[in-house]
Amino acid sequence: MYDVIIVGGGPAGMTAGLYLARAGIKTLILEKETVGGQIAAAINVDNYPGHLTITGSEISTIMYEQVINAGAEYEFENVINIHNGKIKQVVTEDNVYDCKVVIIASGSKYRKLGLDAEDKYVGNGVHFCTACDGAFYKDKEVAVVGGANTAVANAIYLADIAKKVYLINRGSELKSEKVRVNELLKKTNVEIMYNTTVENINGEKHLETIDIKTAGITKNLKIDGLFESIGMDAETELVDNLLVKNDCNYIMSKDCTTDIEGIFVAGDCREKDVRQLTTATSDGTITAYLAIDYLKGN
Ligand SMILES: Cc1cc2nc3c(=O)[nH]c(=O)nc-3n(C[C@H](O)[C@H](O)[C@H](O)COP(=O)(O)OP(=O)(O)OC[C@H]3O[C@@H](n4cnc5c(N)ncnc54)[C@H](O)[C@@H]3O)c2cc1C
Repeated sequence: MYDVIIVGGGPAGMTAGLYLARAGIKTLILEKETVGGQIAAAINVDNYPGHLTITGSEISTIMYEQVINAGAEYEFENVINIHNGKIKQVVTEDNVYDCKVVIIASGSKYRKLGLDAEDKYVGNGVHFCTACDGAFYKDKEVAVVGGANTAVANAIYLADIAKKVYLINRGSELKSEKVRVNELLKKTNVEIMYNTTVENINGEKHLETIDIKTAGITKNLKIDGLFESIGMDAETELVDNLLVKNDCNYIMSKDCTTDIEGIFVAGDCREKDVRQLTTATSDGTITAYLAIDYLKGN
């Protein structure tokens, strides 16, 4: 029997685990893939306070060592279901665990284009987050793929950093708010390519060119970086019948609490405006305090 089980061993889950373990609470973190979650794939992190620059893999390892040293347990298991009750059951593919509190910190994933060898270039020319990686492309040539609000916002953001920005949109118009599109159109270094798709990414270790197709004609475009901005998917199937979610599957919660007593939600899987390390770790801290309070009364 655990006091708290945390689903997801990314920054939000590990921060919650750190505070709980340091408070002497018996805590288990369950992670289905990689220590550190999304940030493990970041080449450099330059915006996490306390580190001038650090790799995603280093920050993941430090967080892991810190939470283990504090006394939390960390197991690699895929959580497939949660049964609610005074004692809650967390069901993985291999085990069923009992606990008093569950913290859902299962994060989200950037949607990818689905191209061959795309994964090889993630962090090596293929990026998803302009606030995280845009600064690496000062005075360089980049492309943004997508046509909705995020893509347009990313193109505007990059236009102030890069020498040239291509916005590659598969449709014949941008599906973004008019005010944003107007702001984009004022940028003299942005070229919008309509009815265009990305067919291939090429390069040795780092992306060097992409193949794009417009009206049946394929051409090769030399760029330094590609920002895929076609949306994110919340990793929340495990609470499908338990918690209220929005249209994009993010768990609805303004303050990390849920409709269910003893179940809290932290990090990128929660409906929010900003998904960054600092906001994920902040949520992790808040859920730890919520859990400690709940355990006092139960
Ligand atoms: C390439 C890249 C670069 C980035 N760079 C930066 C940056 O420079 N600065 C910055 O602030 N932010 C950056 N971010 C964003 C940042 O990584 C995220 O905001 C942060 O990781 C969110 O933390 P989280 O713990 O909420 O979710 P995640 O990091 O998504 O972690 C959730 C974890 O839960 C696990 N999980 C999901 N479902 C289950 C399940 N059913 N059972 C068990 N485990 C499960 C996942 O495998 C994952 O490890 C970057 C993101 C990416 C992808």
